[in-house]
Amino acid sequence: MTQYVYAFSEGNRDQRELLGGKGANLAEMTNLGLPVPPGFTITTQACRSYLAAGSEPGELRVQVTMALRRLEDDLGRQLGDRHDPLLVSVRSGAMHSMPGMMETVLNVGLNDASVKGLTEESGDERFAWDSYRRLLQMFGKTVLEIDGEIFAGALDDAKAAQGVDVDVELSVESLRDLVATFKAVILDESGSPFPQHPREQLDLAIRAVFDSWNTERARLYRRRERIPQDLGTAVNICTMVFGNMGDTSGTGVAFTRDPASGHGGVYGDYLVNAQGEDVVAGIRNTLSLADLKNLDPSSYKQLLQVMRRLETHYRDLCDIEFTIERSKLWMLQTRVGKRTAAAAFRIATQLVDENLITLDEALERVDGAQLAQLMFPRFDGAAEKHLLGKGMGASPGAASGYLVFDSATAEKGAAEGKDVILVRKETNPDDLGGMIAARGVLTSRGGKTSHAAVVARGMGKTCVCGFSELEVKDGAATVDGRVLREGDLISIDGSSGEVFAGEVPVVASPVATYLESGLGTAVKDIDEDTADLVRAVDRLLSHADSIRRLRVRTNADNAQDAVRARHLGAQGIGLCRTEHMFLGERRVLIERLVLAPDRATRQTVYDELLPLQRQDFVELLTAMDGLPVTIRLLDPPLHEFLPDRTELSVKVAVDRATGQVDEDEERLLAAVERLHESNPMLGLRGVRLGLVLPGLFALQVRAISEAAAIVKADGGEPQVEIMIPLVGSVMELFLIRDEADQILRAVQEEKGVALTIPIGTMIELPRAALTATRVAEAAEFFSFGTNDLTQTTWGFSRDDVEGGFFATYLDRGVFMVSPFESLDVDGVGRLIRIAAQDGRRTRPDLKLGVCGEHGGDPESIHFFHRVGIDYVSCSPFRVPIARLEAGRAAV
Ligand code: PEP
Ligand code: MG
Repeated sequence: MTQYVYAFSEGNRDQRELLGGKGANLAEMTNLGLPVPPGFTITTQACRSYLAAGSEPGELRVQVTMALRRLEDDLGRQLGDRHDPLLVSVRSGAMHSMPGMMETVLNVGLNDASVKGLTEESGDERFAWDSYRRLLQMFGKTVLEIDGEIFAGALDDAKAAQGVDVDVELSVESLRDLVATFKAVILDESGSPFPQHPREQLDLAIRAVFDSWNTERARLYRRRERIPQDLGTAVNICTMVFGNMGDTSGTGVAFTRDPASGHGGVYGDYLVNAQGEDVVAGIRNTLSLADLKNLDPSSYKQLLQVMRRLETHYRDLCDIEFTIERSKLWMLQTRVGKRTAAAAFRIATQLVDENLITLDEALERVDGAQLAQLMFPRFDGAAEKHLLGKGMGASPGAASGYLVFDSATAEKGAAEGKDVILVRKETNPDDLGGMIAARGVLTSRGGKTSHAAVVARGMGKTCVCGFSELEVKDGAATVDGRVLREGDLISIDGSSGEVFAGEVPVVASPVATYLESGLGTAVKDIDEDTADLVRAVDRLLSHADSIRRLRVRTNADNAQDAVRARHLGAQGIGLCRTEHMFLGERRVLIERLVLAPDRATRQTVYDELLPLQRQDFVELLTAMDGLPVTIRLLDPPLHEFLPDRTELSVKVAVDRATGQVDEDEERLLAAVERLHESNPMLGLRGVRLGLVLPGLFALQVRAISEAAAIVKADGGEPQVEIMIPLVGSVMELFLIRDEADQILRAVQEEKGVALTIPIGTMIELPRAALTATRVAEAAEFFSFGTNDLTQTTWGFSRDDVEGGFFATYLDRGVFMVSPFESLDVDGVGRLIRIAAQDGRRTRPDLKLGVCGEHGGDPESIHFFHRVGIDYVSCSPFRVPIARLEAGRAAV
């Protein structure tokens, strides 16, 4: 029989796949002897079976009964008993944390009879009725899918009727009335009365949690976070403990270090006389843990002890949810906590300094996406700003945009290409679409652990929360008497929490500036806090450098980018695209080349191009002196350098109609027509161009070798490599090589210098990969052009699909992420493996690189490491990210 139910004491933290993150950690804490209310977990496998079959597996009911009875026997109380009721919480808990995405029902087991038993046992009638109304509210919304606003509205009405501001001030009578109202709402909206039978409540709540796996917002969240859609969620059934039993009770969340900055010291929010979701939902403003110290020193002390134990056990920042019931501390959840990018770097190095983890482990605690975030620009300190006020910096970054008040408007604005800032009183999971669409999120309520803060941090989205001076009401916001309306410009600083009116210019981040300085000189100009962060980044990057096997080069085609990339740690150029050298003023030369009637005329153009190209390469080789520079010969179809066909046709037609025939223009149009292709990406480009247009590649090879000779004569150490694009057959390569080798020999003789210039090829076509054994006969290196290789393997046009049908493909789960963004390991990756292995069979010292966009993508880099690639090449900004990921891949 499959085991679908595990008591907390049966599991452990390594069972996240089966028990979900929450269940696995509850089990771990139970086994550590921490004060966890007893309970059990229904596995993700049960959820998957339920979702597949549309009903629970038969054994599940039986196993739940057994687990429940054991729980009841241990506690000496029964679920929903009329005298001393056992109540339970039912919470979702998937393998990957999905904050606020799924469902929770508390106080299951309460009904018209057991509410009286709870009153007797607790001696607190108000508490009992408050618990009952919470059950009705959560059950109605979550299990019966009744609009939550109806309950919230009735709660507001009850407060207004009694003339109080917050729910804890509601009297027993008001709560009793509210229970009656909620029951009527349930009957009206669902057509059936609220189920009084405790087991029926439990079974329905379990189902609701299973179903919550597939809500629209949960699917959207997973798509964004690249979490597979078929994992399912576990369900945790846990004995209720009550934070709403008066002023000696409460509930809170805490972090063992500050998850926003990474600085040491415990951090958290606490709400007196409150239950479960009140804190995370950010509904009331919270107290800090320091306040708890004054309120309940003994629970506070115990909480600190538990936090220290958890940190020692997990050797990482932990976040926890706890409840204090009449001065007794209970742990409801823990996990290795989410954190900002800065906090991740700081905490990883702190833990090394505290001898809790090794440097290798520290490297695993950070990633390239976090480093990218730290390199983002921020607001210009010198710019004129109009400060509206300050909330809490919940997720760093700097964002300016048009203000919108709801998720739908945010999505619409973003679809129109506008930068928008989503402003809400507080967010809830229904705002997810708007949060994704917005540049930043601003809320007037809630702390750093509110829904808005947690979700924004997870997304790396700028967020300021708890900006309490801002009153958000009726589609407008008021701060300090100033009214802000939809469409007004606003700027938010997710580090400082500052909110500004209007747009504020942004500047480079200190981390990026430091990294670009290459020598650490920028450190002295920044405050100690930032310097501390920069040191943490530098330390982990240096460690990555010391252990990585993959080298990191850059894609650059001018000296300026080359210098920048070199400072950022590039170990050469992996791809210099030469087409950019034929644009601007030089475009006319290409026109003349295309129009040339014979070889001699073409040669005059080459003669003019030669010194220009040579100078380009001298500059590039000088900037990268001593490091390899791979120059790719011209790749794109020639028509890309010519005027647009339609525009030129119209012009010629107009000229003809007005009798102003221009011979040159006519000839140009004829050439444009001749070169026109329906499918230019599969047409006359790359090596084909070199074979069809005599002299073109020869010119480039000459310019490259002469440039190398000049730099060498000047005392430099040029290490240039020539790369032939879009090769499909070794024959193409042999033909080009023949010509190139002759030129290389000639230049060496003419200049009297010895040059070593390897000639290699790009692998961009499946045929090249599949015939790599042969291709390697004529290539001294391979560089995988994964952009074209993805395009040609899938048969997707890389220029068209991303805005087109990819949205549907991502939605329908054909892939989780665009294969142009992260390498399709199964298909394109297989070709790379084959080419790498076969190529090296022919030529054991064959050097292998990757120069498509995937060279800077973290996940792809790990794959390239695994298949024995020698280097990746990426844009200058991504070089540090690739260094870090290459180090992480080597751990
Ligand atoms: C590639 O195809 O991956 C590549 C690097 O070349 P380009 O993007 O210039 O086609
Ligand atoms: Mg290409």
